[in-house]
Amino acid sequence: MRTVMFVAPWQLRFDEVDAPAITEPGDALVRPLAATTCDLDHHVIAGKTPFSGFGPFPLGHECVGTVVEVGPGCTQFTVGDVVGVAWHIACGTCAQCRIGHPARCVEHGDAQYGLPVNGQWGGTFSELIRVPYADYNLALLPAGVDPVHLASVGDNFALGWETTMPSIEGIPDPRIAVFGGTGSIGLYVADVAVHCAKAQTVYYDDDPVRMAVAEKLGAEVRDINGRIANDFHVAVDASCDPEKLRKALVSVVPEGRVNSVGIYFQDVELPLLALYQRGVTFHNGKGMARPAMTPILEHVANGTLHPELVTSGVYDWDQIPEVLTSPHAGHKPIFTLPPQA
Ligand SMILES: [Zn+2]
Ligand SMILES: [Zn+2]
Repeated sequence: MRTVMFVAPWQLRFDEVDAPAITEPGDALVRPLAATTCDLDHHVIAGKTPFSGFGPFPLGHECVGTVVEVGPGCTQFTVGDVVGVAWHIACGTCAQCRIGHPARCVEHGDAQYGLPVNGQWGGTFSELIRVPYADYNLALLPAGVDPVHLASVGDNFALGWETTMPSIEGIPDPRIAVFGGTGSIGLYVADVAVHCAKAQTVYYDDDPVRMAVAEKLGAEVRDINGRIANDFHVAVDASCDPEKLRKALVSVVPEGRVNSVGIYFQDVELPLLALYQRGVTFHNGKGMARPAMTPILEHVANGTLHPELVTSGVYDWDQIPEVLTSPHAGHKPIFTLPPQA
Protein backbone atom coordinates (compact mmCIF):
# COMPACT_ATOMS: atom_id res chain seq x y z
CA MET A 1 0.00 0.00 0.00
CA ARG A 2 0.98 3.63 -0.26
CA THR A 3 1.74 5.74 2.78
CA VAL A 4 2.83 9.36 3.15
CA MET A 5 6.23 9.67 4.78
CA PHE A 6 7.62 12.75 6.48
CA VAL A 7 11.22 12.76 5.24
CA ALA A 8 12.62 16.09 6.44
CA PRO A 9 11.29 19.64 6.85
CA TRP A 10 9.20 20.53 3.78
CA GLN A 11 9.78 17.05 2.28
CA LEU A 12 6.94 14.52 2.12
CA ARG A 13 6.64 11.58 -0.27
CA PHE A 14 4.51 8.51 -0.95
CA ASP A 15 6.28 5.21 -0.15
CA GLU A 16 5.18 1.67 -0.99
CA VAL A 17 5.11 -0.29 2.29
CA ASP A 18 3.67 -3.58 3.52
CA ALA A 19 0.01 -3.24 4.47
CA PRO A 20 -0.73 -3.96 8.14
CA ALA A 21 -2.54 -7.17 9.11
CA ILE A 22 -4.63 -8.28 12.08
CA THR A 23 -2.13 -9.49 14.69
CA GLU A 24 -4.17 -9.38 17.94
CA PRO A 25 -7.76 -10.61 18.43
CA GLY A 26 -9.03 -7.11 19.30
CA ASP A 27 -7.62 -5.49 16.15
CA ALA A 28 -9.54 -3.95 13.28
CA LEU A 29 -8.20 -2.78 9.93
CA VAL A 30 -9.55 0.57 8.74
CA ARG A 31 -9.25 2.10 5.29
CA PRO A 32 -9.41 5.91 5.60
CA LEU A 33 -12.19 7.76 3.77
CA ALA A 34 -10.77 11.12 4.77
CA ALA A 35 -7.65 12.13 6.68
CA THR A 36 -6.36 15.49 7.80
CA THR A 37 -3.56 17.22 9.63
CA CYS A 38 -3.39 17.77 13.34
CA ASP A 39 -2.19 21.35 13.88
CA LEU A 40 1.02 19.82 15.21
CA ASP A 41 1.73 18.23 11.80
CA HIS A 42 2.17 21.66 10.22
CA HIS A 43 4.82 22.45 12.82
CA VAL A 44 6.52 19.09 12.20
CA ILE A 45 6.58 19.76 8.44
CA ALA A 46 7.95 23.25 9.02
CA GLY A 47 10.84 21.81 11.04
CA LYS A 48 9.74 23.46 14.30
CA THR A 49 9.52 20.37 16.53
CA PRO A 50 11.98 17.79 17.89
CA PHE A 51 10.16 15.19 15.73
CA SER A 52 11.23 17.07 12.61
CA GLY A 53 14.73 15.59 12.89
CA PHE A 54 13.55 11.96 13.01
CA GLY A 55 12.35 11.39 9.41
CA PRO A 56 11.50 9.34 7.54
CA PHE A 57 8.36 8.22 9.38
CA PRO A 58 4.70 7.74 8.38
CA LEU A 59 2.74 10.95 8.99
CA GLY A 60 -0.82 11.61 10.10
CA HIS A 61 -2.97 10.81 13.13
CA GLU A 62 -6.45 12.08 12.25
CA CYS A 63 -8.88 10.14 10.05
CA VAL A 64 -12.29 8.61 9.56
CA GLY A 65 -12.61 5.40 7.59
CA THR A 66 -14.33 2.13 6.84
CA VAL A 67 -13.74 -1.05 8.81
CA VAL A 68 -12.49 -3.63 6.30
CA GLU A 69 -11.53 -6.50 8.63
CA VAL A 70 -11.96 -7.33 12.32
CA GLY A 71 -10.23 -9.80 14.61
CA PRO A 72 -12.28 -12.35 16.58
CA GLY A 73 -12.03 -10.23 19.76
CA CYS A 74 -13.52 -7.11 18.15
CA THR A 75 -17.23 -7.38 18.92
CA GLN A 76 -18.55 -3.80 18.64
CA PHE A 77 -17.73 -3.25 14.97
CA THR A 78 -18.25 -5.10 11.71
CA VAL A 79 -16.91 -4.81 8.19
CA GLY A 80 -18.40 -1.80 6.47
CA ASP A 81 -18.88 0.34 9.59
CA VAL A 82 -17.80 3.96 9.12
CA VAL A 83 -15.77 5.06 12.13
CA GLY A 84 -13.69 7.79 13.67
CA VAL A 85 -10.23 6.73 14.88
CA ALA A 86 -8.70 8.08 18.10
CA TRP A 87 -5.16 9.44 17.61
CA HIS A 88 -3.78 7.48 20.56
CA ILE A 89 -3.14 3.78 21.06
CA ALA A 90 -4.93 2.83 24.28
CA CYS A 91 -5.93 -0.47 25.83
CA GLY A 92 -9.22 0.83 27.18
CA THR A 93 -9.07 -1.24 30.36
CA CYS A 94 -6.03 -0.16 32.45
CA ALA A 95 -6.27 2.11 35.50
CA GLN A 96 -5.73 5.28 33.41
CA CYS A 97 -8.02 4.28 30.53
CA ARG A 98 -10.81 3.37 32.94
CA ILE A 99 -10.87 6.90 34.39
CA GLY A 100 -10.93 8.55 30.99
CA HIS A 101 -7.20 9.10 30.40
CA PRO A 102 -6.45 6.91 27.36
CA ALA A 103 -3.59 9.15 26.22
CA ARG A 104 -1.90 8.14 29.50
CA CYS A 105 -2.56 4.41 28.95
CA VAL A 106 -0.45 2.34 31.35
CA GLU A 107 0.14 -0.27 28.63
CA HIS A 108 1.02 2.03 25.75
CA GLY A 109 2.11 5.37 27.19
CA ASP A 110 2.77 7.87 24.43
CA ALA A 111 2.00 5.48 21.54
CA GLN A 112 0.13 7.05 18.65
CA TYR A 113 -0.20 7.14 14.88
CA GLY A 114 1.96 9.38 12.75
CA LEU A 115 4.84 10.30 15.07
CA PRO A 116 7.94 8.30 15.97
CA VAL A 117 7.09 7.64 19.62
CA ASN A 118 6.70 4.31 21.40
CA GLY A 119 6.29 1.76 18.61
CA GLN A 120 5.39 1.58 14.94
CA TRP A 121 1.70 2.23 14.38
CA GLY A 122 1.83 3.75 10.89
CA GLY A 123 0.19 7.02 9.91
CA THR A 124 -3.36 7.88 8.91
CA PHE A 125 -2.20 9.16 5.50
CA SER A 126 -2.02 5.45 4.58
CA GLU A 127 -4.40 3.26 2.61
CA LEU A 128 -4.86 0.93 5.58
CA ILE A 129 -4.28 1.27 9.31
CA ARG A 130 -4.31 -1.30 12.07
CA VAL A 131 -6.35 -0.25 15.11
CA PRO A 132 -5.57 -2.29 18.23
CA TYR A 133 -8.26 -2.56 20.95
CA ALA A 134 -10.66 -1.47 18.23
CA ASP A 135 -13.73 -1.76 20.47
CA TYR A 136 -12.25 1.07 22.53
CA ASN A 137 -10.31 3.20 20.03
CA LEU A 138 -12.98 3.45 17.32
CA ALA A 139 -16.23 5.43 17.44
CA LEU A 140 -19.11 4.64 15.09
CA LEU A 141 -20.21 7.62 12.98
CA PRO A 142 -23.94 8.31 13.31
CA ALA A 143 -26.10 7.73 10.22
CA GLY A 144 -26.56 10.71 7.96
CA VAL A 145 -23.39 12.66 8.80
CA ASP A 146 -20.81 13.55 6.14
CA PRO A 147 -17.66 11.70 7.22
CA VAL A 148 -15.33 14.08 5.33
CA HIS A 149 -15.67 16.98 7.78
CA LEU A 150 -15.29 14.60 10.71
CA ALA A 151 -11.75 13.60 9.77
CA SER A 152 -10.54 15.44 12.90
CA VAL A 153 -12.96 13.86 15.38
CA GLY A 154 -10.23 11.67 16.91
CA ASP A 155 -8.00 14.60 17.91
CA ASN A 156 -8.30 18.36 17.28
CA PHE A 157 -12.11 18.38 17.09
CA ALA A 158 -12.32 16.34 20.31
CA LEU A 159 -10.13 18.98 22.00
CA GLY A 160 -12.97 21.45 21.43
CA TRP A 161 -15.06 19.45 23.88
CA GLU A 162 -12.32 18.56 26.36
CA THR A 163 -11.04 22.09 26.85
CA THR A 164 -14.45 23.62 27.50
CA MET A 165 -17.30 21.40 28.67
CA PRO A 166 -15.80 19.89 31.86
CA SER A 167 -14.39 23.31 32.82
CA ILE A 168 -17.72 25.18 32.76
CA GLU A 169 -19.65 22.67 34.81
CA GLY A 170 -21.71 24.47 37.45
CA ILE A 171 -21.05 27.94 35.99
CA PRO A 172 -24.22 29.76 34.94
CA ASP A 173 -23.77 32.02 31.87
CA PRO A 174 -20.14 31.07 31.21
CA ARG A 175 -17.73 33.32 29.36
CA ILE A 176 -15.00 31.57 27.37
CA ALA A 177 -11.95 33.09 25.66
CA VAL A 178 -10.22 31.24 22.85
CA PHE A 179 -6.67 32.20 21.88
CA GLY A 180 -6.18 30.84 18.35
CA GLY A 181 -2.99 30.45 16.38
CA THR A 182 -2.03 26.83 15.80
CA GLY A 183 -4.61 26.38 13.04
CA SER A 184 -7.83 24.46 13.52
CA ILE A 185 -7.94 23.77 17.27
CA GLY A 186 -9.10 27.21 18.37
CA LEU A 187 -11.89 27.07 15.79
CA TYR A 188 -13.18 23.71 16.97
CA VAL A 189 -13.03 25.08 20.52
CA ALA A 190 -15.05 28.12 19.44
CA ASP A 191 -17.66 25.86 17.82
CA VAL A 192 -18.18 23.85 21.01
CA ALA A 193 -17.99 26.94 23.25
CA VAL A 194 -20.70 28.76 21.29
CA HIS A 195 -23.03 25.89 20.47
CA CYS A 196 -22.64 23.30 23.25
CA ALA A 197 -21.40 25.35 26.22
CA LYS A 198 -23.73 28.18 25.09
CA ALA A 199 -21.01 30.46 26.38
CA GLN A 200 -20.42 34.06 25.49
CA THR A 201 -17.32 33.31 23.45
CA VAL A 202 -14.54 35.67 22.41
CA TYR A 203 -12.06 34.39 19.82
CA TYR A 204 -8.68 36.17 19.77
CA ASP A 205 -6.37 35.78 16.78
CA ASP A 206 -4.53 37.85 14.17
CA ASP A 207 -5.18 35.69 11.12
CA PRO A 208 -8.03 37.13 9.03
CA VAL A 209 -9.02 33.75 7.51
CA ARG A 210 -9.39 32.01 10.87
CA MET A 211 -11.07 35.10 12.37
CA ALA A 212 -13.70 35.01 9.60
CA VAL A 213 -14.39 31.33 10.36
CA ALA A 214 -14.73 32.05 14.10
CA GLU A 215 -17.21 34.81 13.32
CA LYS A 216 -19.29 32.42 11.19
CA LEU A 217 -19.25 30.00 14.10
CA GLY A 218 -20.89 32.67 16.24
CA ALA A 219 -17.93 33.87 18.32
CA GLU A 220 -17.16 37.50 19.00
CA VAL A 221 -13.84 38.06 17.23
CA ARG A 222 -11.09 40.36 18.48
CA ASP A 223 -7.47 41.16 17.64
CA ILE A 224 -5.13 39.13 19.84
CA ASN A 225 -2.66 42.03 19.77
CA GLY A 226 -5.24 44.46 21.18
CA ARG A 227 -6.71 44.76 24.66
CA ILE A 228 -7.68 41.44 26.24
CA ALA A 229 -10.59 41.28 28.69
CA ASN A 230 -10.01 39.67 32.08
CA ASP A 231 -13.42 38.32 33.05
CA PHE A 232 -13.54 34.88 31.40
CA HIS A 233 -14.43 31.79 33.41
CA VAL A 234 -12.35 29.66 31.08
CA ALA A 235 -9.59 30.55 28.62
CA VAL A 236 -8.28 28.10 26.06
CA ASP A 237 -4.75 28.71 24.78
CA ALA A 238 -4.35 27.22 21.31
CA SER A 239 -1.77 29.79 20.24
CA CYS A 240 1.53 27.97 20.65
CA ASP A 241 3.05 31.38 21.35
CA PRO A 242 4.53 32.23 24.80
CA GLU A 243 3.42 35.88 24.59
CA LYS A 244 -0.16 34.89 23.81
CA LEU A 245 -0.14 32.21 26.50
CA ARG A 246 0.71 34.99 28.97
CA LYS A 247 -2.32 36.93 27.79
CA ALA A 248 -4.53 33.85 28.17
CA LEU A 249 -3.24 33.19 31.69
CA VAL A 250 -4.34 36.59 33.00
CA SER A 251 -7.62 36.74 31.06
CA VAL A 252 -9.66 34.74 33.55
CA VAL A 253 -11.71 35.75 36.61
CA PRO A 254 -10.30 34.95 40.06
CA GLU A 255 -10.30 31.13 40.43
CA GLY A 256 -10.71 30.82 36.65
CA ARG A 257 -9.27 28.04 34.56
CA VAL A 258 -6.84 28.10 31.63
CA ASN A 259 -6.42 25.05 29.38
CA SER A 260 -3.45 25.07 27.04
CA VAL A 261 -3.26 22.69 24.10
CA GLY A 262 -0.64 24.26 21.85
CA ILE A 263 2.57 22.38 22.57
CA TYR A 264 5.52 24.36 23.89
CA PHE A 265 8.76 22.59 23.05
CA GLN A 266 10.78 24.98 25.16
CA ASP A 267 10.46 26.25 28.71
CA VAL A 268 8.26 29.31 29.03
CA GLU A 269 8.42 31.83 31.84
CA LEU A 270 5.12 32.10 33.72
CA PRO A 271 3.77 35.16 35.63
CA LEU A 272 3.43 33.15 38.82
CA LEU A 273 2.70 36.09 41.11
CA ALA A 274 -0.17 37.24 38.87
CA LEU A 275 -1.44 33.65 38.74
CA TYR A 276 -1.25 33.38 42.53
CA GLN A 277 -3.13 36.60 43.06
CA ARG A 278 -5.81 35.49 40.63
CA GLY A 279 -5.93 31.85 41.72
CA VAL A 280 -5.61 30.37 38.26
CA THR A 281 -5.91 26.66 37.56
CA PHE A 282 -3.71 25.87 34.57
CA HIS A 283 -3.87 22.62 32.64
CA ASN A 284 -1.23 21.91 30.01
CA GLY A 285 -1.27 18.49 28.40
CA LYS A 286 -2.39 16.35 25.54
CA GLY A 287 -5.99 15.64 24.71
CA MET A 288 -7.69 12.41 25.73
CA ALA A 289 -9.77 12.21 22.55
CA ARG A 290 -11.75 8.98 22.89
CA PRO A 291 -14.14 9.98 25.70
CA ALA A 292 -14.94 13.28 23.93
CA MET A 293 -15.53 11.67 20.52
CA THR A 294 -18.95 10.32 21.57
CA PRO A 295 -20.57 13.65 22.56
CA ILE A 296 -18.90 15.42 19.61
CA LEU A 297 -20.45 12.94 17.16
CA GLU A 298 -23.88 13.24 18.83
CA HIS A 299 -23.79 17.02 18.49
CA VAL A 300 -22.75 16.86 14.84
CA ALA A 301 -25.55 14.39 14.13
CA ASN A 302 -28.18 16.65 15.68
CA GLY A 303 -26.88 19.72 13.85
CA THR A 304 -25.46 21.56 16.87
CA LEU A 305 -21.81 21.61 15.72
CA HIS A 306 -20.47 22.80 12.36
CA PRO A 307 -17.10 21.20 11.56
CA GLU A 308 -17.62 21.88 7.84
CA LEU A 309 -17.00 25.57 8.58
CA VAL A 310 -13.56 24.73 9.99
CA THR A 311 -12.43 22.71 6.95
CA SER A 312 -10.14 24.94 4.88
CA GLY A 313 -10.18 22.79 1.72
CA VAL A 314 -11.00 19.28 0.48
CA TYR A 315 -8.37 17.68 -1.76
CA ASP A 316 -7.60 14.40 -3.52
CA TRP A 317 -5.43 11.87 -1.68
CA ASP A 318 -2.68 12.17 -4.31
CA GLN A 319 -2.27 15.85 -3.43
CA ILE A 320 -1.19 15.26 0.21
CA PRO A 321 2.56 15.91 -0.26
CA GLU A 322 2.02 18.86 -2.58
CA VAL A 323 -0.60 20.62 -0.43
CA LEU A 324 1.08 20.00 2.92
CA THR A 325 4.47 21.30 1.78
CA SER A 326 2.91 24.46 0.41
CA PRO A 327 3.00 27.58 2.59
CA HIS A 328 -0.70 27.89 1.69
CA ALA A 329 -1.75 24.49 3.04
CA GLY A 330 -4.61 26.09 5.00
CA HIS A 331 -5.56 25.54 8.65
CA LYS A 332 -7.50 22.31 8.02
CA PRO A 333 -6.95 20.63 4.64
CA ILE A 334 -8.86 17.35 4.33
CA PHE A 335 -7.84 14.63 1.87
CA THR A 336 -10.29 12.02 0.59
CA LEU A 337 -9.46 8.47 -0.44
CA PRO A 338 -11.95 6.72 -2.75
CA PRO A 339 -13.38 3.46 -1.35
CA GLN A 340 -11.57 0.40 -2.68
CA ALA A 341 -13.05 -0.93 -5.92
ZN1 LIG B 1 -2.57 15.70 17.21
ZN1 LIG C 1 -4.85 1.62 28.94
